[in-house]
Amino acid sequence: MKVFKDRVAVITGGASGFGREFAIIGARLGMKLVLADVQQDALDKARVELEAQGAQVLAMRCDVRHAEEVQALADATMEKFGAVHLVFNNAGVGSGGLIWENTQADWDWVIGVNLWGVIHGVRIFTNLMLECARKDPQFEGHIVNTASMAGLLNAPTMGVYNVSKHAVVSLSESLYQDLKLVEAPIGASVLCPYFVPTGISQSHRNRPDDVPGSAPTASQRAAQTMSDKAVNSGKVTAEEVAENTFKAIADEQFYIFSHPGALGNVQERMEDIVLQRNPGDPY
Ligand code: NAD
Repeated sequence: MKVFKDRVAVITGGASGFGREFAIIGARLGMKLVLADVQQDALDKARVELEAQGAQVLAMRCDVRHAEEVQALADATMEKFGAVHLVFNNAGVGSGGLIWENTQADWDWVIGVNLWGVIHGVRIFTNLMLECARKDPQFEGHIVNTASMAGLLNAPTMGVYNVSKHAVVSLSESLYQDLKLVEAPIGASVLCPYFVPTGISQSHRNRPDDVPGSAPTASQRAAQTMSDKAVNSGKVTAEEVAENTFKAIADEQFYIFSHPGALGNVQERMEDIVLQRNPGDPY
């Protein structure tokens, strides 16, 4: 995707962290923005800030775990802007703990947001973009799914998260291959960041079943400890991740590592894994 100005970007998890930074860059590039999140106050704040930058913004509460809410987001986007060119299926949540100690609620929540949220976004927005492409021969689109380094390597005490993000990498490769097969004018990428200080790496206490003031669960405590360490060692900002992501979209890269060279061995291991399984036709 080469042209961003006046194009429409949908960003799930758009109120915080990477999503917020995608929106800021999108606004700078002259894009029309659709922000979706479950945090209404943060969404309103982001909309006001982006409008002050001169952007046209639709900010909508949308819980990506539910297909009908993602469909409503797509419908509202078409009603306001009439097309969709760039989609960031980015909303995500963290979890931690020994894998056999994770509860059914841990699995439902993390798989619900991190995997079902991306599945709904891919299915609904790809169909919408294909429709846009049928109407406009000049149409050009791109879908970025936020996975993680945990989608390529499995770190201990992150099992539920690892599973969700491996599935997002698989989903993204499948999307990439199928779009290529039908020669659609739509690119696909998967973003695989290492730890970066954002909302997710600072707080794991935003579950819908949380009771305010209650003690954190074992999963939340484990995730918090792990992410505190990551934040303390973090050298890359969410802003840099977003900048590198936009560059990668313009270059039609599939795997987006987002902080090249900053991770030493981890980066090399991820690149080795990717070299062995670059999305092509393995058969
Ligand atoms: P963040 O917490 O700052 O942003 C995530 C956003 O998703 C929040 O605004 C949150 O309200 C929203 N969200 C949560 N559940 C939702 C739901 N059901 N429906 C809609 N929105 C929902 O964290 P972030 O780091 O910016 O996370 C963005 C993505 O990056 C996630 O998919 C995360 O797994 C991934 N990631 C983050 C890191 C990191 O270290 N920060 C590393 C690798 C991958």
